Amino acid sequence: IPVQGVENQTIAVLGLGRSGRATAAALAAGGAQVVVWDDGVDTRTQAQADGMTVLDLTRDANWQGISALITSPGIPHLYPKPHPVIAKAYELGIPVDNDIGLFFRSFATRDWENYDTPPRVIAITGSNGKSTTTALIHHILREAGRPTQLGGNIGTGVLSLEPAHDGEVVVLELSSYQTDLARALTPDIAVFTNLSPDHLDRHGGPGGYFVAKRRLFAEGGPDRAVIGVDEVEGRYLAGQLAMSPQDDRVIRISSGQKLEDFGWSVFARKGFLSEYRKTRQVASIDLREMTGLPGEHNHQNACAAYAATRALGLAPREIERAFHSFSGLPHRSQTIAEINGVRWVNDSKATNVDAAAKALTAFRNIRWIAGGMGKDGGIESLVPFIDQVIKAYFIGHSARDFALQAAATPHEIVDTMEAAVARAAAEAQPGETVLLAPAAASFDQYPNFEKRGEHFAALVAALAQG
Ligand code: ADP
Repeated sequence: IPVQGVENQTIAVLGLGRSGRATAAALAAGGAQVVVWDDGVDTRTQAQADGMTVLDLTRDANWQGISALITSPGIPHLYPKPHPVIAKAYELGIPVDNDIGLFFRSFATRDWENYDTPPRVIAITGSNGKSTTTALIHHILREAGRPTQLGGNIGTGVLSLEPAHDGEVVVLELSSYQTDLARALTPDIAVFTNLSPDHLDRHGGPGGYFVAKRRLFAEGGPDRAVIGVDEVEGRYLAGQLAMSPQDDRVIRISSGQKLEDFGWSVFARKGFLSEYRKTRQVASIDLREMTGLPGEHNHQNACAAYAATRALGLAPREIERAFHSFSGLPHRSQTIAEINGVRWVNDSKATNVDAAAKALTAFRNIRWIAGGMGKDGGIESLVPFIDQVIKAYFIGHSARDFALQAAATPHEIVDTMEAAVARAAAEAQPGETVLLAPAAASFDQYPNFEKRGEHFAALVAALAQG
């Protein structure tokens, strides 16, 4: 996607990872002079070899004529402290933006005259469930036959997306780090899933939450805002945005609360999703049989995706059908097989105790595979959640520590994933679930949680073949 409105400007790009390179290319395609900088010497040498103009932005003199700095995700721009090049831009008063800002700027100024239906953008923000909600929205649209693209924090970077087709819906997952910095953020439908307190600490402040708030109030804000109201911040946001409780520009969503008295609401209770408009029930969906969406946290994600796609005009039955065919995101409470009545679930993404707790409450009759590189405190805080566990199989570096903490639960130290899968397969009875939810990082045995999940899935696939 060529960036609009940058012709003949000199723009600096900081960071030359995948997204930095895509950004540099998109800026050049839009007619900008692009200069680049990266802290890595080898990366700079490579960039030069690729024909890019490398400029040392740590030196004041080199900023002459530069009209903006575009930075990459992952480079700190505020907390714990800004990268020196970004700090320099702040000091000189040079606008700092990122690929998300460039994307929205280009999208908003695009001329859709030759389109029957202008493309639309749905942006998903919040602390948890972003990837699942984003993928689910994308899946629902695809199943309904709507042209759609998925990008942002999940999958393709925003500037590597295809130019939007007629009637297309671009679904973007945005991390709070990305929304914080973006100078333009103008989705047609904004989704704010939830806010978890630990997120506040991680970002040195309410970050994405206040940005979401600021953007939602901005002139020309979204046509619809889907807002999770299970925390006080969400209730505040929804209340401030709506002109009255009946204002249906805001769709309130909840997992657990009954929300019948608003202009538009979608909530999940006891396994059922309900949609209400002006105190009348419009639809009800049984979520309990959706294998791709286990657990209450996923029911919240289902409400968010339902609300966003309803806002686009999809019918409840179309959405319900797509819920059935959603298989979940890899490594996030994903059911990967049913073998002889035993369900196998991959939640390798559960690298900490909070995520593991969610997985442990989403299933019954669990044989639990856990362990790896445990975090401070091990699995102490999980003890209340493991009452239901039939047996635990501990692997990796923390296996012995975990076994001590789980002394009251039947368990076995098996050390490796191979042994864990083999033992669980030998012992599991029909109706049980074998759940990989490690509550630990993977680094002792794997390069990352994806590789751990893939290894588990491969072992289970081998079982299925007998
Ligand atoms: P994100 O993209 O925001 O990190 P994901 O959809 O990748 O979220 O889910 C990551 C983990 O967070 C999941 O394994 C699950 O344990 C937990 N999670 C998912 N959805 C929610 C939710 N709505 N509320 C709280 N936790 C959630």
